Formats: sequence, C-alpha cells, structure tokens
Amino acid sequence: MNTQEYIDLTEENVLHTYNRFPVVFARGEGVRLYDTDGKEYLDFAAGIAVYALGYGNKAYNEALKDQVDRILHTSNLYYNVPLAEASAALTRASGMSKVFFTNSGTEAVEGAIKAARKYAWLKDGKNDHEIIAMQHSFHGRSMGALSVTGHESYQTPFRPMIGGIRFADFNDIDSVRAQLSDRTCAIILETVQGEGGIYPAEAAFLQEIRSICDERDILLILDEIQCGMGRTGAMFAFQDYGITPDIMTAAKALGCGVPVGAFLLNEKTAARSLVPGDHGTTYGGNPLAARAVAEVLRLYEELDITGHVRAIAPYLEKRLDELTGRHACITERRGKGLMQGLQLDASCRVGDICAKALKNGLVVISAGENVLRLVPPLVITESDIDEMTEKLDRVFGES
Ligand SMILES: *Cc1c(COP(=O)(O)O)cnc(C)c1O
Repeated sequence: MNTQEYIDLTEENVLHTYNRFPVVFARGEGVRLYDTDGKEYLDFAAGIAVYALGYGNKAYNEALKDQVDRILHTSNLYYNVPLAEASAALTRASGMSKVFFTNSGTEAVEGAIKAARKYAWLKDGKNDHEIIAMQHSFHGRSMGALSVTGHESYQTPFRPMIGGIRFADFNDIDSVRAQLSDRTCAIILETVQGEGGIYPAEAAFLQEIRSICDERDILLILDEIQCGMGRTGAMFAFQDYGITPDIMTAAKALGCGVPVGAFLLNEKTAARSLVPGDHGTTYGGNPLAARAVAEVLRLYEELDITGHVRAIAPYLEKRLDELTGRHACITERRGKGLMQGLQLDASCRVGDICAKALKNGLVVISAGENVLRLVPPLVITESDIDEMTEKLDRVFGES
C-alpha cells in the first residue's frame, strides 16, 4: 500500500474525530520521524508531549522487549514485579505517598475526582460537594474529566455534566475565592495549562490556592499530565513552586509511548479516601505499562533529563524570542522549560503554520486560541533548536 491508500483505508474505517495531517509516520530515530515515503521530519511535538526520551532509546526498547517475552498482563488481583518497581520510583520522583496506575490521562483525572469526593464524603457523609476548576483548562474527554474542562464547546453536546463543578479564572485568585463555599471539596488545575494555550500558573496564584486549601481542608489536585515528567525542568512542575498538591495526575511522558497514566495521593489523602471496592481497572499498571514507567524513570535519572531541560531551555527561549522579534504575526512567547507557546495574531492561522511546517519537515502542533505549541522530546540539542528556528523562519516568511 502507498501513503494515500493508508490514509484512505483509515478514513474509511476510523471514526472521524480528528482532522489529521496527511502524513503516515512509520518510524522514529532520536528526535526525527520518517513517513512512509521515507521523508525525514524534525519532531517538536513528541506525539503531544509523550516521547520525552526521543525515538529508539535502546535501553527503553530492550526493557519493553524483555517484558513482552516475560508477561504482559496479570490483572490487579495479583502482584507483579514491574508494578512494585514503577510505584516506588514514581512516588519517590513526585514526593507523593501512593499511586494508582491508569491507562490514560483522562482516567487519572477521573480517579483524582473520585478520591477527592470520597475524602469529603468520609468527613461529613454529604453528597453535595463541589469542585472548582479553571476556565480554558483541559483534563480529558470522559464525562468526569470533561466536566472539569473549562471549554464550553467541548461540553455542550454532552450535557448534563457531573454536578457540583464551578469555574474560576486561571491566575485570578479573587475569581477562585468567589467560587468557594462550604461544599467545596477540591480545586483542580494544571500547573501549566497546556491545551488551553501554554499558560504557566503564577507562583503567587498557586501558593494562595494552597493556603486556601490548607485553611479549609480542601484538596488541591494538580494535573501534571502534560507539564510533568521533566518538561518544565522540574520532575513535576509544581516542584518549582514551593508547594505540594494533595492529589496529582500524570500521563503522557510517563510511559514515553506506552499508554499509561497515574493519579497520586499524599499521605493525608491516601489515608482517608479510596479503599478496596471503590475503584479499579483491568489493565491499569499491568506489567508492560509498569515496566515502561520503571524504565522511563530509571533513564530520567541516568540521563539527568531534568538537568538537561534546565540547561537547554534558556537557549530555546532565546531563539524563540528572536523569532518572535522577526515576525510581526507572533505577538508573544509563553512557557516554561521545553513547554513553549507562540501566540499568533489574526493575520496567520496556526493550522496553516503547522501544515506548512510539516511540508518543511518540521512537526509542530497548536494549542488554545491560535497558539503554536512546542513540546519537543526532552533530549533535543542546540543544533536541533537551530534547525527548528530556521524552518519556522522559512514558514513564517512565506505566510
Ligand atoms: C492530555 C491531557 C489530558 C488527557 O490525557 P489523555 O491521555 O489524552 O486521556 C488531561 N490533562 C492534561 C493536562 C492533558 O494535557
């Protein structure tokens, strides 16, 4: 089959919920992707902030192959070796107390919501608890995660949402206070908003939220699915803010390509929330997924991924700031570490920019309202950044 035939076969059979770019990726190597015609691309999307270690990391691939030959799945009725290793590594890396592994980010958010509701229910036996979420947030597409996603058009066809969700404005503490009540059991937010357009939380905002939560015994849920796993230069983005969450979610780069998510609870929350019978999953934390997590976390340490991100991020920011200066339609650069966004004005459409970049052998994606999103593999070098900048110069020059 040729490229067009693969595309046609897919469109004939896969439910059309994505407008895909007309490219069929066949393999990857380092920070490069190759399509079915053999064309090479520099990847600054990493499968949406997933492939943090780059493609074809030998140790990672060998670990997965080894696990395939041992056992893929056991169910959660039994213990398994990778689960023991992955859970210990992840609680250590995050500073959290207990982990529950899921198959996706959205399921991690579901679990976080359930843990928060259970914690509140154990306190007062009531079923009227509320959760405050943020406008322009993204937490996933299942009914619970969608209910805390502050995006009107994502919700409208699927109402009613789950009850008791109130929305505040990100980085506006007064708007959070305005939504507080005696029923508030949790506040959920991304430490750096991703899909909403790359907006880092301001330190004062996050610290104020932590204080509010402490005063009222409200649980702080931080969604680190996109901004976690070293992307901002800390293992988890909150670790640069001098606060800790009560509940945290992770996914995307957690498995570096193997579908896996997790929600983690601190000691206080773990002691008084979900118990046997409350929550479960057939696949979650199975030997294959857990082996991926354990190997990813081992490699993060061996390769000092967070150190590399902290070292290289200023160079990326510098080159992007120069690019912003050269092209009038880029109005602002925002971001933290290797999670960067370029705000475009109405004179150029981000979809067109992404399509033209692809033609020029560069993979970039969009976010929010006309924002070009750069979430490359965390192993990029200065010369990769130079190449990306050259390609974007050409793309914006033509636009
Ligand atoms: C991607 C994402 C999710 C959803 O994760 P899935 O694995 O797609 O279900 C949730 N929250 C944030 C912040 C995300 O970026």
